[in-house]
Amino acid sequence: MLADLGYGRGDRIAFALDSSADTAIVLLGIAAHATAAPLNPLYRSAEFEFYLSDLDVAAIVLPEGEGDEARIAAAALGVEVIDLVRDPRGAIGGFSLRASTPALDSGARRVPVPERARPEDIALVLHTSGTTAKPKIVPLTHAAICITSANIARTLHLAPGDRCLNVMPLFHVHGILNVLWSSLLSGAAICCLPAFDPHRFWRWYDAIRPSWYSAVPTIHQTVLMHRSGSALAASRGNQSLRFVRSSSAPLAPAVFEELESVFGVPVIESYGMSEVDQIASNPLPPARRKPGSVGLPGGPEVAVMDDRGERLPAGHVGEVCVRGANVLTRYEASDEVNADSFRDGFFRTGDLGYFDADGYLYLVGRLKEIINRGGEKIAPREIDDVALTHPAVAEAAAFALPHPQLGEEPALAVVLRTGADASPLDIRVHISHRLAEFKIPRVVFFLDRLPKGPTGKLKRNELGRQCSVSLP
Ligand code: ATP
Ligand code: MG
Repeated sequence: MLADLGYGRGDRIAFALDSSADTAIVLLGIAAHATAAPLNPLYRSAEFEFYLSDLDVAAIVLPEGEGDEARIAAAALGVEVIDLVRDPRGAIGGFSLRASTPALDSGARRVPVPERARPEDIALVLHTSGTTAKPKIVPLTHAAICITSANIARTLHLAPGDRCLNVMPLFHVHGILNVLWSSLLSGAAICCLPAFDPHRFWRWYDAIRPSWYSAVPTIHQTVLMHRSGSALAASRGNQSLRFVRSSSAPLAPAVFEELESVFGVPVIESYGMSEVDQIASNPLPPARRKPGSVGLPGGPEVAVMDDRGERLPAGHVGEVCVRGANVLTRYEASDEVNADSFRDGFFRTGDLGYFDADGYLYLVGRLKEIINRGGEKIAPREIDDVALTHPAVAEAAAFALPHPQLGEEPALAVVLRTGADASPLDIRVHISHRLAEFKIPRVVFFLDRLPKGPTGKLKRNELGRQCSVSLP
């Protein structure tokens, strides 16, 4: 269909669709024939304008009669809209594609179906989540995608009998590679929720009896909060379930434990990013998984380095660096951004971590988020984890507040559990019993919700703007 509309290799084609089997087919079809640029259907027109022009896309696929915000942006930029017209009987893959420009629709511009994609061709262009800075464009080749998906499938022992209940959107690396591509490579099935909704999650969970699901920690937390909606959860009656996987952001120990007790299966925490995808993962039993650790290197070579690029021994915290055939070699970004991101053939993740004596990797935070209190370095995540052990705390995120003498002081944003009560002092006292004095947040803010990106990742850098107060 794309060839009939005049598109082929070298063209970038975006799509903004809810997750479904048709969306998976659109994604795979574009990746095989051209280059796919998946976008969040919930963006507003200004966001679409940014992504469409940053990615330099030729066309965007939208559901027929929907996607007004994307249509406004496409019109402003002269990007062609391709309507996805669903099969009236609802048959999977029974859709057709219709271009908005009639001249192109007539097949006049038909391009020959290209040979099979080469390993070095770019299948996908994704933006990083924009958690620490402006999102960067990551081009992913067919080779990188295949290597990554095979690594994940091997780690999770995926097989044709597996069935994943997919809650992650098909516009982020988590849903695309960790779930969709690795399942397809294994001959396994996935069922996609159109978009995450906890009530629907549990209804589908009971109906589908999945063998696994994978999510970011915030989604796991929401799933746990609504578990009374499921008969299977109450009885741990899903015998097909093998494991629950968590990735894309740190999983607090309290959430890890609650997940294992509710689901009665191992929780597998993995570490990945758009630029590499799986970097490390805990193994399935009988191998040992370690709560709090992101596991063993899961494909590419992983090294922990100091700021001069020297490898550090076990037990020493440094920057996690990776190299391997599926690791990004260059962002589509300025030379400056690229120069900062690579050193001696290694990609610098910007994450801080250490290996233990058994070779398990622990992440302590992100370089950019470290709180520097007069030279004392504080990883905000350590404060988050302790705050979360307070019974009234549902969510917690520490961040830096500017301080005239010390440079920065730790502060904490907290979302209380519904119906629970606690004062800022209660929370500071709770933390003071568990952490050194310099790590106790100077100020505790109560918020209704924490700022998060579209996949539910905490945007810690926005807290400083949201909760500003001048410290004496
Ligand atoms: P940007 O690079 O634009 O600031 P981002 O890094 O959040 O955004 P992603 O590629 O979606 O964009 O996320 C990768 C990051 O997510 C990793 O660098 C790491 O900081 C974090 N991460 C992923 N998995 C884990 C995990 N299991 N534990 C802790 N952090 C994780
Ligand atoms: Mg990043």
